[in-house]
Amino acid sequence: MNLPWLAAAQQQLAHAAATGRLPHALLIHDSSGAGGVELARNFAQRVLCEATPDVCGRCASCRQAQAGEHPDLRLVVPDPEMKSGQITVDQVRELSAWLALSSHGGRGSCVVINPADAMNRQACNALLKTLEEPRPGAHLVLLTTQPARLPATVRSRCQVLRLTAPDRAAALAFLDEQSPGHRADWEAALDVLGPAPLEALDADRAHLRAIRDDIKHLLQQAQTGRLDVVRQAAHWSGQDMPLRLRGLEQALSAHVLRTASLSAPAVTLKIAAALALLDQVRELQGLLATTVSRPLAMEDMLWRLSAAVTAS
Ligand SMILES: [Zn+2]
Repeated sequence: MNLPWLAAAQQQLAHAAATGRLPHALLIHDSSGAGGVELARNFAQRVLCEATPDVCGRCASCRQAQAGEHPDLRLVVPDPEMKSGQITVDQVRELSAWLALSSHGGRGSCVVINPADAMNRQACNALLKTLEEPRPGAHLVLLTTQPARLPATVRSRCQVLRLTAPDRAAALAFLDEQSPGHRADWEAALDVLGPAPLEALDADRAHLRAIRDDIKHLLQQAQTGRLDVVRQAAHWSGQDMPLRLRGLEQALSAHVLRTASLSAPAVTLKIAAALALLDQVRELQGLLATTVSRPLAMEDMLWRLSAAVTAS
């Protein structure tokens, strides 16, 4: 899949490869929807492709790398057996030993760690030696949306490539190209998810559209002073609560930034009030993983929304 907004990053890597300066350690500073995994895969192909320095996308190595089945490519993710969700020191020692061996195909080898910030302190320390004394042809890709969680000792030994998600227009153009004739669905999907077109592509479009319409309805009710807070809180605190909060976050952000969203601005809301609500939505998102009572937390949020709209 060609992601147009990655073109600049890909060109930068192509130039590095052409001049023999492909980084031994690349830290991809990803953001939601920006396609860091795609870029990591592209980087691995750059290391392994039989037509190097350019990536052909057709040779056996490229096809194996795309499928994640190349013998000289390893993907390291948190051990599913570990409840902590961490990448452990044993996993890092194992990958370091593997990376020290010469490659099967003789071109090079590549390890992708995703998310790199899942490495615990010991794992990061174990990685330092590999970062400091790389075997020629061995490449490491650290993928993370939160590089600040990695120790400076690790970050400083990597070349950092920062990715940003496409803006709404570019995201819509991409989705139209992937699946034409669903413009209204794609607009609704981005209204809920924000500019995350890859996520939109994988999501249930009809479901996202229903959620978007629900959010719009809620805001209209608040605007006309007819919001039934208790009933809506019960409805909103079900299994779709994370998506609904995400959609509300997008609607409030769009209101603050005065960008197009939810097809039409449904509420009059002072910027300060919208910002305060935005804070509360984000706080509530953080509480979703805890034992907080969802209906009560949602009810509190909706009372504040209702009061803020009435006062604006
Ligand atoms: Zn190839």
